[in-house]
Amino acid sequence: MSVIVFVEANKGLIKKNGIEGVVYGKRTASPVVAIVCGEASADQLVQLGEYGADKVLHVNQAVTAPSAVDIMSQAAEQENAKWIIFPFDNTGRAIAPRLSARLKAGLVSGALGVPEADGTIKKNVFSGKAIAAVTIQTDQKIIAFSPNSVGLQRIGGSATVETYSPVIKSSSINNIETRQLEGDIPLPEADLVVSAGRGMKGPENWGMVEALAKSLGAATACSRPVADAHWRPHHEHVGQTGVAIRPNLYIAIGISGAIQHLAGVNQSKVIVVVNNDPEAPFFKAADYGVVGDAFQILPRLIDAVKKFKSSQN
Ligand SMILES: Cc1cc2nc3c(=O)[nH]c(=O)nc-3n(C[C@H](O)[C@H](O)[C@H](O)COP(=O)(O)OP(=O)(O)OC[C@H]3O[C@@H](n4cnc5c(N)ncnc54)[C@H](O)[C@@H]3O)c2cc1C
Repeated sequence: MSVIVFVEANKGLIKKNGIEGVVYGKRTASPVVAIVCGEASADQLVQLGEYGADKVLHVNQAVTAPSAVDIMSQAAEQENAKWIIFPFDNTGRAIAPRLSARLKAGLVSGALGVPEADGTIKKNVFSGKAIAAVTIQTDQKIIAFSPNSVGLQRIGGSATVETYSPVIKSSSINNIETRQLEGDIPLPEADLVVSAGRGMKGPENWGMVEALAKSLGAATACSRPVADAHWRPHHEHVGQTGVAIRPNLYIAIGISGAIQHLAGVNQSKVIVVVNNDPEAPFFKAADYGVVGDAFQILPRLIDAVKKFKSSQN
């Protein structure tokens, strides 16, 4: 019984969440078959072997959620898959429930780690306020894992690569146009995120936030009122009603830390809060806190990061 992993590629690059899915699959069972959908270079396909894939099946076309369900259900049958793994990102969220209905296979969404020896899988519930331990009762099991659950670890294996051309039925949904979000680092995949809220007073002050993000190689994010006021684009809004992220480092500047904001960011590995109100609720969720005026602290932080980086060269 094998593990198949949905891996998305775009413009020749395999997405980081897909590579993590291969690591996740390897820690769940074996053999691991990566189903790569989208344009990817031969080197990248082969490289998946280093992360634990035994076999790579490449579908060299962009897919919609319904076509991905056709691909993954046929791959599951061909590979006799017991486990089917997706990243719990926008793509995984669209495909995994559809596949679950098609295969009548149980699905756990937002898994925080690999299944334990008794099959228990942990996942967040109530917007990250509690953790539930669940099991899947069907023989075939689908897991959509939270990004950063297992990280990226090379184990040094090798994979065979085959072109895969399953039958894709015509769908009632046609992809007319795909628009790439602006910005160098897509927020859901970012390891480092610099985020700011209403404490920045206005969009004219975002240069400092962007400068800090640039010096760190981080993506930028914002609170909801900031996006609602059109200070920043809506795809940067994080929280319960925005993007849920799980970066290694989340720096929150001038954000109060309302429960709806925390719901989308409290799974970050390290949280740093900058706020001039020592009573701001965000400090309770912070690993590190700086009480002070963002307009004084940000230039010093940017300077410190630049000095540190140049001392490393
Ligand atoms: C149904 C619902 C869903 C929601 N979903 C979301 C969501 O997904 N994401 C989200 O973010 N919000 C969401 N909200 C809104 C949420 O409740 C808060 O209102 C919002 O997060 C507050 O944004 P903020 O922290 O930027 O602004 P504020 O609450 O105005 O906080 C600004 C902070 O900046 C600090 N500050 C001010 N000046 C400075 C300075 N010079 N230097 C340093 N710090 C300073 C202040 O002390 C304060 O803590 C939702 C609300 C509802 C009702």
